[in-house]
Amino acid sequence: MHRKLLFGFILTALLAACAETEQSPPADDSNSSQTSAQTFEWKLVMSWPKNLPGLATSAERLAQNIAEMSNNRLTIKVFGAGEYVPAFQVFDAVSSGTAEMGHSAAYYWRGKAPILAVFGTVPFGMTAQETNSWLHYGGGLELWREVYAPFNLIPFPAGNSGVQMAGWFNKEINSLADIQGLKMRIPGLGGDVFQRAGGVAVQLPGNELFTSLQTGVIDATEWVGPYNDLAFGLHDIATYYYYPGWQEPNAVLELMVNKSAYESLPEDLQKIVEVAARASNQSTLDEYTARNMASLNTMMEEHGVQLRKLPDDVVSAFRMYANEVFDELANEDELSARVVASYKDFQGTVSQWHAIAEESYFEIREGNDGS
Ligand code: CA
Repeated sequence: MHRKLLFGFILTALLAACAETEQSPPADDSNSSQTSAQTFEWKLVMSWPKNLPGLATSAERLAQNIAEMSNNRLTIKVFGAGEYVPAFQVFDAVSSGTAEMGHSAAYYWRGKAPILAVFGTVPFGMTAQETNSWLHYGGGLELWREVYAPFNLIPFPAGNSGVQMAGWFNKEINSLADIQGLKMRIPGLGGDVFQRAGGVAVQLPGNELFTSLQTGVIDATEWVGPYNDLAFGLHDIATYYYYPGWQEPNAVLELMVNKSAYESLPEDLQKIVEVAARASNQSTLDEYTARNMASLNTMMEEHGVQLRKLPDDVVSAFRMYANEVFDELANEDELSARVVASYKDFQGTVSQWHAIAEESYFEIREGNDGS
């Protein structure tokens, strides 16, 4: 009996000691207890119109997730293109700290550093799955951060469209001759390729596409894929919808963060931003994958859109010019050479694997292997 009492006393004392330890951590344990009360109200500026499904909604969900995970210690007000800064001033706004965050695509910033196009997309380059592997497990993100560092920016991949569509045309493209002199909105390296193939590439932000095509400022445009293009109403002003999206086999949506602002956050909030971006990167791709086919069916069945595949001679010319353009990019400077080499090396290896895995699987799934 005496022993039991003693044991009970020791146990109670131990539990009390544990509880006390939990309640009062050592003062120098971390800075989190001192900073947890501090709140941050940030601005996020987008290159997309407010509420545009897929692109803008992804940024808005990202901001919402960060607020919820941080218990509103970091809240982010999201601005559509032109609401705070114009679509193509997102980079400068975040670089200078006018806004702490931006949501855009890196190929819009080729004027800052031509190699940045690669972190948006590469014509005939990697798919979303492959690009994500390169960025996160192949050194791609470290290279991107190196390119952004002089601009006081930290990039995070925060979404992906998957393979896009080749675009909207009001005449059929039957051969390379039909590309000659055609004025098309097409950004990034794809624009350079289109230009070499005899077309005229125009760079326009999303919110100017509809009017530009409608009024004949441009003859054709690419945007994203059925889900986004349906929301934009592009089927109302163009008839032929071409695939495959050679110019954007994936498009990385970027979350750019002002480096000084990021470094002013306590470590746990930094981590929340990083992990929220990583989650957004996946969920955006999931959303596109889930919604594209239904949107395409709506376009064809309810709006009379004509689906067309690009002819072989056009595709092979684009492929040839794409290789030229990409190789030339390596000559810009030492860092560009490293980025191009890293990208090519990774694509070479991952495409070998995907020939064995994905491609063979698609063949057996559809019975196209003759089995
Ligand atoms: Ca596009």
